[in-house]
Amino acid sequence: MNARESTLRIGLVYPEILGTYGDRGNALIIAQRAQRRGIAAEIIEIYAREPISSGLDFYLLGGGEDDSQHIAARSLQESRSALIEAHNTGAVIVAVCAGFQLLGHSYEAADGSLLEGIGLIDMITRAGANRSIGEVVIEAEPSPNWGTAGPPPLITGFENHGGRTQLGQGVVPLGQVKVGTGNGNGGDGVLGERLLGTYLHGPVLARNPVLADRVLSWVVGPLEEIDDSLERRLHDECLSRGSAQGVKRWWQNRMLARG
Ligand code: GLN
Repeated sequence: MNARESTLRIGLVYPEILGTYGDRGNALIIAQRAQRRGIAAEIIEIYAREPISSGLDFYLLGGGEDDSQHIAARSLQESRSALIEAHNTGAVIVAVCAGFQLLGHSYEAADGSLLEGIGLIDMITRAGANRSIGEVVIEAEPSPNWGTAGPPPLITGFENHGGRTQLGQGVVPLGQVKVGTGNGNGGDGVLGERLLGTYLHGPVLARNPVLADRVLSWVVGPLEEIDDSLERRLHDECLSRGSAQGVKRWWQNRMLARG
């Protein structure tokens, strides 16, 4: 679609079960940053067990604990082809934590149950031995998927999950983890063409205005500058909090290792 000629349609997928950590804010940020450039935008909430239509510009999925993730997994199976078709024909997908895990082949929960994902991304997730809770800082992966503007600056967020995600051969993470756990093996999330998966809540697009603009530009093209100095200050403050937590954890681990 040409978003400048018609209203941008932002699908918020299963907000009543995938949104425990305020991830609906990602939809609000996309809509607001579009509107501030004079681009009309509307948020369309799609509830679990409702079919997901393939005609939207964005599909945003949030996080959720294992119980709600079971319901989300079953509902997503029914809309699997619509979502994949939408993505293949130009829509953007942003998925956080539980929502991100369900884009892969499967998620094995802590109680041993196996949830089937939609297989859009070649990856699997298994619950690890412990939960990762706290601030995260990641350095975005250089990739042509960022467009000519290049990767955004350091990304800040917080995580609360047990899942550990293994990406398939050739699947690119969103970035390298500087503080925190992310996927559990040095990277966080996934970056594809018009596709962003991450473990980061925050909401991640509110904390990272440049990242939000990269995602918006995947649909509407190059964006004019806006005065977002307040949002950028929030980004910098979150980043220094995350880095301070990283230094503290590093020090604690060093002390533990020394005994
Ligand atoms: N249930 C998943 C896990 O613990 C997702 C948690 C979340 O979305 N925050 O890994």
